Amino acid sequence: MIIQKTREEIELMRESALIVSKTLGMIASEIKPGVTTLHLDTLAEEFIRDHGAVPGFKGLYDCPSTLLTSVNEQVVHGLPTNRPIEEGDIVSVDCGALKNEFYGDHAYTFEIGDVAEETRKLLQITKESLYVGIREFKMGNRVEDVGSAIQRYTEAHGYGVVRDLVGHGLGKKMHEEPNMPNYGKRGRGKKFIEGMVVAIEPMINMKSKNVKQLKDGWTIVTADGKPSAHFEHDVALVDGKPELLSTFAYIYKALGIESNEEDEFRKVPLVL
Ligand code: MG
Ligand code: MG
Repeated sequence: MIIQKTREEIELMRESALIVSKTLGMIASEIKPGVTTLHLDTLAEEFIRDHGAVPGFKGLYDCPSTLLTSVNEQVVHGLPTNRPIEEGDIVSVDCGALKNEFYGDHAYTFEIGDVAEETRKLLQITKESLYVGIREFKMGNRVEDVGSAIQRYTEAHGYGVVRDLVGHGLGKKMHEEPNMPNYGKRGRGKKFIEGMVVAIEPMINMKSKNVKQLKDGWTIVTADGKPSAHFEHDVALVDGKPELLSTFAYIYKALGIESNEEDEFRKVPLVL
């Protein structure tokens, strides 16, 4: 069952989402060559607790960390390690926070210094596909309208859409109904309803869509060893339209990127 949230509950969820947004903004100013993902994990936990919340992932399904940090060919669910981040890496940082009984959950893939041009393009297209998907999260549409838009947008660039992991409903549980796949057929799946909140999170591979899990029981990597990108926003359906609860604005401020997310919505070309 899809759990509808009241306006008041959506405002509480915005608070949780924004704590994660601010955490990722802090990470944006700390992530650089030589820094370990384990160090970033410590900083993130302190930051979240300083903001009156608790880490959303730690302890959930026995997850040992505050962040999930996935480097290069790692798709998602990478556990923080002592390996220093290197120039040219890409690092997906996924973070959750729990406050007032509601979860926030979002992610951004960072470029470390000079990244290969084709990898930069993968990141750009994956981020655009997030907005392409969010635009379809509106009254009258169904679950697979979001996924099919993301799939068509990214496959048009020759990329592989991960099938084994999907976005999800979000609320008092980290994973609520419905599942939000990044693939599908237009017009299929559950109908969207007012007040629902979802985490939309395209996981897009450079080539093959196939993935496998490492022996640590967590890290998902591409089967072909090529890079993968991951961007995630929390979105509520308010007055029949998608409303972003999380924002990349703190990341953009830290990185000196001029961007207005509302513009990004409009800028991304329509796909039919
Ligand atoms: Mg996440
Ligand atoms: Mg998620």
